[in-house]
Amino acid sequence: MKKKVYFKTFGCRTNLFDSQVMMQNLQDFEVTENEDEADVVVVNSCTVTNGADTTVRSYVNHVEKSIGAKVFLTGCGAHTKGENLFENKKVFGVFGQSEKKRINTLLKENIPFYELGDLNFVDDAVVEEFIGKSRAFIKIQEGCNFRCNYCIIPYVRGDARSLDEKRILEQVYRLATNGFGEFILTGTNVGSYGTGEGTNIARLMKKMSQIRGVRRIRVGSLEPIQVNDEFKEILDEPWLERHLHVALQHTSPAMLKFMNRRNRYESDLKLFDMLADKGFALGTDFIVGHPGESEALWREGIQNIKRLPLTHVHAFTYSKRDGTPSASMKEEVNGAVAKERLHELTSIIDEKNLEFRKAFKGELDVLIESQKEDGLYYGLDQHFNKVIVESDEDLSGNWVTCKDYTVKDEYNYAQI
Ligand code: SF4
Repeated sequence: MKKKVYFKTFGCRTNLFDSQVMMQNLQDFEVTENEDEADVVVVNSCTVTNGADTTVRSYVNHVEKSIGAKVFLTGCGAHTKGENLFENKKVFGVFGQSEKKRINTLLKENIPFYELGDLNFVDDAVVEEFIGKSRAFIKIQEGCNFRCNYCIIPYVRGDARSLDEKRILEQVYRLATNGFGEFILTGTNVGSYGTGEGTNIARLMKKMSQIRGVRRIRVGSLEPIQVNDEFKEILDEPWLERHLHVALQHTSPAMLKFMNRRNRYESDLKLFDMLADKGFALGTDFIVGHPGESEALWREGIQNIKRLPLTHVHAFTYSKRDGTPSASMKEEVNGAVAKERLHELTSIIDEKNLEFRKAFKGELDVLIESQKEDGLYYGLDQHFNKVIVESDEDLSGNWVTCKDYTVKDEYNYAQI
């Protein structure tokens, strides 16, 4: 009887890809999606905030108390919290992302181990499928050369480096052959793909679009400076999603300096206006409550947000991350005030999203991702907006075109 392994994946899409690679490299074990029957639990951790660390720790405690399975820790948290969890015998083994393809051997170890491996390894894994997914996450890059003051990622994912182009195209070819039509490019700083290697993300996407079966390409996230002239050349391509996520993190010039961000508000505004004129839905990242965010700078930030043609936002309240420059900055923002500001920001963007969906008069090109207990189908359209579809047909994993639909507060609704 093969031992059963359950994967608990925290954090970003890059971790989703890494977990898929680990699942695929298990020969002498069986992957289970049922946590309770697991003999082994692999925790693919995130450490982007102190909160993320706490979540991982409480999950490890939960496994210890209620499942009793052997626990192995990997992911970014292995580099920050791994040693402590290992020394306290909370986990049997700790391994870095560079060791993930050896998982079949590592899980058979009888002696507890702590092996972080090489922080600057270049991934060469190719996956055949994405268990439980209708969209494929393609890791093209790893690490980051930016040094935003609040961020620990460059210290746990290493410097920016790109995966081999041939490998990536082979990856897409295999998944497209296996029926995947939508591909999400992922990495730590995706837009820095090809830096120092005489290529870039726009060239890669053009090559991907030539592969039979590739219908829609999404980019996980871009930095404003990465939307360069070559990227602007692909903006009208039919295979490029009509939504872009361009990370700003703040819109007050003074706050961008405190955060050591490379983007600048005035050029961000010009860029977003240009993209919106081309019909793109636009998302961004925003950290509320970073040290130094006085009431005056917050008001300035909100005024500037209102001028931006945004439709989506990943907004978080600042969370101190030990080991980052921001962690020792004074003028901290009160937690309750930060929460209020977060709510103020997300309400503005929700309103802008609704206006965008009401103003759009075209058809929705939807990839159905799941069917919920209520029997309705859930998917995302070309603008990365949620669409709920009612139908008697089985639409799971299908592409559907919605001509007639109703714009609801948080989603679009269609009957097919
Ligand atoms: S760009 Fe900034 S926020 Fe993003 S991973 Fe790099 S250092 Fe962190």
